[in-house]
Amino acid sequence: FFSDKSAKIFVAGHRGLVGSAIVRKLRHLGFTNLVLRTHLELDLTRQNDVESFFATEKPRFVILAAAKVGGIHANNTYPADFISINLQIQTNVIDSSYRHGVSKLLFLGSSCIYPKFAPQPIPEDALLTGPLEPTNEWYAVAKIAGIKMCQAYRIQYNWDAISGMPTNLYGPNDNFHPENSHVLPALMRRFHKAKVKGAKEVVVWGTGSPLREFLHVDDLADAVVFMMESYSGLGHMNVGSGKEVSIKELAELVKDVVGFEGKLVWDTSKPDGTPRKLMDSSKLAALGWTPKISLRDGLVDTYKWYLQHVEQ
Ligand code: GDP
Repeated sequence: FFSDKSAKIFVAGHRGLVGSAIVRKLRHLGFTNLVLRTHLELDLTRQNDVESFFATEKPRFVILAAAKVGGIHANNTYPADFISINLQIQTNVIDSSYRHGVSKLLFLGSSCIYPKFAPQPIPEDALLTGPLEPTNEWYAVAKIAGIKMCQAYRIQYNWDAISGMPTNLYGPNDNFHPENSHVLPALMRRFHKAKVKGAKEVVVWGTGSPLREFLHVDDLADAVVFMMESYSGLGHMNVGSGKEVSIKELAELVKDVVGFEGKLVWDTSKPDGTPRKLMDSSKLAALGWTPKISLRDGLVDTYKWYLQHVEQ
């Protein structure tokens, strides 16, 4: 993967949290021939358009970071969008990549593919051993199909498609929508607005007791490059930080980084979601990859980005 810095690489979803971090990383490493398309230029849910894109561009490598994503509320509200758009995007891109001679593809999913009550930390082989968390099963089913599709193409065609399943990600270019985003950007925005307004309290959803693992997206981008270089196997690969925090601890930390001085009010009418979600990323660690960015450093970096790009 590293031997030819002019190899044509298609990063699908390069405007999103994950895709943009991968593009930053690849450019930093000196890759010069990235093929990028905005949503407007290429709608990945349209099979014919995806086919002709691949026929014309013939990329050598594909990193599939395009997806319809959202937090607990968005997943609950738009189940049809989450299952159908994701299935369409990944089916089109994976199949066209194979048909048009892509030499390696990396598919990205998420930790929500695992059963709600999977053993913790969650090993890769917990996949399909129990019922999913209902608040994001639509998205999860699509992502599971993506993993299986990569495996099926490897088995039937001996084609090098791999999958990485990151834990909860955050960082620059995250979605800071007040209702539809994930907890970390939602809280960052809410604390920031409250600080600016001089509000006395901020509402946080649920009980605060669920445990989550967070990974800065620049660490994920580093892992993606590592896997493109060093991993070609049937099994999907977990990518996590290995560190858990409760939503309450996260809220306190974000509050501190933002500099909000009021208090937290818990809205327990909002769902907690799955009680705990820590991935076992020892398989990737055994290959030699480890994350580098602490949660506090990552939050400081993300808040700086938020102030420069969202507030201005
Ligand atoms: P999940 O990891 O798939 O459950 O997705 P989220 O990031 O949306 O939610 C994680 C946890 O944070 C859940 O327990 C939520 O109830 C809690 N949470 C607290 N405040 C918020 C908020 O403002 N937005 C979101 N999305 N979640 C919140």
